[in-house]
Amino acid sequence: MVDYLIVGAGFSGCVLAERIATVLGKKSLIVEKRSHIGGNAYDYYNEYGILVHKYGPHIFHTNSQKVVDHLSQFTNWNAYQHKVLANVDGINIPVPFNLNSLSLIFPHEKAQHLEKLLLDNFGYGTKIPILQLRQSTDGELAELAEFIYQKVFLNYTKKQWNLEPDELDAAVTARVPVFISHDNRYFQDDFQGMPMEGYSAMFERMIGNNPLIDIALNTDYADILSSIQFNKLIFTGPIDEYFNYQFGALPYRSLRFEHETYNVEFYQETGTINYPNTFDYTRRTELKHLTSQKNERTTCTIEFPQPFIIGENEPYYPIPQTYNNDLYNQYAREAEKIEDSVIFCGRLADYKYYNMDQVVARALHIFEKRINI
Ligand SMILES: Cc1cc2nc3c(=O)[nH]c(=O)nc-3n(C[C@H](O)[C@H](O)[C@H](O)COP(=O)(O)OP(=O)(O)OC[C@H]3O[C@@H](n4cnc5c(N)ncnc54)[C@H](O)[C@@H]3O)c2cc1C
Repeated sequence: MVDYLIVGAGFSGCVLAERIATVLGKKSLIVEKRSHIGGNAYDYYNEYGILVHKYGPHIFHTNSQKVVDHLSQFTNWNAYQHKVLANVDGINIPVPFNLNSLSLIFPHEKAQHLEKLLLDNFGYGTKIPILQLRQSTDGELAELAEFIYQKVFLNYTKKQWNLEPDELDAAVTARVPVFISHDNRYFQDDFQGMPMEGYSAMFERMIGNNPLIDIALNTDYADILSSIQFNKLIFTGPIDEYFNYQFGALPYRSLRFEHETYNVEFYQETGTINYPNTFDYTRRTELKHLTSQKNERTTCTIEFPQPFIIGENEPYYPIPQTYNNDLYNQYAREAEKIEDSVIFCGRLADYKYYNMDQVVARALHIFEKRINI
């Protein structure tokens, strides 16, 4: 008999289990179908002793001091400012496309002229979604927008989502805007860093060795549901799966990762290089840039976008489109009917493209509003 049965040991499940144990002194059982805790943020040391993010590179960044304070109970941080380059016509240019990218692509005088035009129209430090810049009535700005759209956005988006950019919610394309700035950092959040000993060590400190938290790995919750007694269920898996896909399956995009190790100290000049127009992968990330690890070898993760097929691969990205959001809302209405006994929380349960900090903030909010009452 436990107070809470928690499905999923990602950020959502671990943050809630810890709060329930520490603040309420109540017992949870976390059921996780994978062989480890940490969800998609799980990392491990490979055979060469290099820390690898199994499910793709995870960079922590946030403007929420509350989230930083919460996680800092379980980890120290290495300062890290992520930088991304896009390989365009053989040249590596900063992404988000910014004033430095302009100078690398165009001859000096043209770059100076376009920089002035952008500054006069938008001002230094502004971020303009590419689809908005494409609407520009100024001929030269429209031409520049078209160039950036074709060279940096269009094919990357098609590879990543198998959709045209305007088929996605505007919020998705706005995540990587055109940045009227010389700041080459990928994020501008107040806090940016990596857990000093990795994400798995942080999760271990959060929920490992806690007598009030039991963890069942390699276990699908559906297989044990009838044999466990609990007061409340916290579900952080896919909401459509919970309701047996009764309105249809929610679409996701999946990925295949290749982790390659090379006999050189560093393979590329920065954390991530995007390949919008070449290869069938989207990006290559060199982990040592992120983790500040020292090792004579280096490991890169290469991401190949894939269609998501239930039972065959993992649902990584909810696909934010009106139709899918409407479908999710049908499930959300079912969830409301059982809200006294089941709490849905997380990227899969809320069908939202949350970053790690957003998922922690969401779990803390749910704890305060629906559990610690
Ligand atoms: C490739 C990639 C890169 C990312 N990079 C970043 C980044 O750089 N920065 C950032 O802030 N965020 C990033 N994210 C987002 C981040 O991974 C998520 O915000 C976070 O991991 C969500 O946590 P969660 O607990 O909601 O979900 P998850 O981590 O998905 O955890 C859910 C868990 O539930 C388990 N589960 C599901 N169904 C069942 C079942 N039936 N029975 C038992 N267990 C079940 C799953 O196995 C999983 O472990 C990235 C995501 C991806 C996919």
